[in-house]
Amino acid sequence: MRILLTNDDGIHAPGLAVLEAIARQFSDDIWICAPSEEQSGAGHSLTLNMPVRLQMHGERRFSVTGTPTDAVTLGLRKVMDARPDVILSGVNHGANLGDDITYSGTVSAAIEGALAGVRAIAFSQVYTRDWNGNEAFATAREWGAKVLGPLLDTPLPERTLVNVNFPPLSPDKVKGIRGVRQGFHDYSRGSVVQGRDPRGHTYYWFGLEPIEHTLDHGTDLEAIDDGYVSVTPLQLDLTHHTSLGEIAQRFET
Ligand code: MN
Repeated sequence: MRILLTNDDGIHAPGLAVLEAIARQFSDDIWICAPSEEQSGAGHSLTLNMPVRLQMHGERRFSVTGTPTDAVTLGLRKVMDARPDVILSGVNHGANLGDDITYSGTVSAAIEGALAGVRAIAFSQVYTRDWNGNEAFATAREWGAKVLGPLLDTPLPERTLVNVNFPPLSPDKVKGIRGVRQGFHDYSRGSVVQGRDPRGHTYYWFGLEPIEHTLDHGTDLEAIDDGYVSVTPLQLDLTHHTSLGEIAQRFET
């Protein structure tokens, strides 16, 4: 099995090493193509206004001076000699739950894989202010293979991918793995900090505070809060089918 790995926190991210350790439990045919710098929050952006460069860091190990989407694209088209069987993205340092998904470089790298018709799975390790530091990826490291194994042969239709989050608990405290739907946050994300740069110009900087949400039953947010690994299948058809008839009717002539 040929596996392509990427990580929106960059080629040197500790979470990428964790993902590689998980993937090596299934295959030795591992390829890595990740952004050269952290790209968290890059979403599904593609670099169009400047060239991107590929750097080799070792056998089957490359970085790209661009976004996670750039990295997957070059991984598939220039780095690998044949198509991978699966693309794994992560393990992200931080949650990708509920409405985080469209901001997420981690999930978007998997989206790019799904668009290319390759089985794609995104992994994220949730952390909190009280629970971080060296142990932060221990749960992903311990539980990764238990999640990935079954997902490698679960049938997935075209244009679908899987989003996995590990709860902010030590591995022995994790209660299990749950298949759940995407939840939603109650409020728009984070703060906007205003400041003044050394030349006197105003700048703004987006903050990432804990986001309030209602823990709807059967969601990824609830599963993580209950101490489970969350596994959510996502689809790229964003059409709201229930509203389609209403919308179409308004424009009927
Ligand atoms: Mn990230």
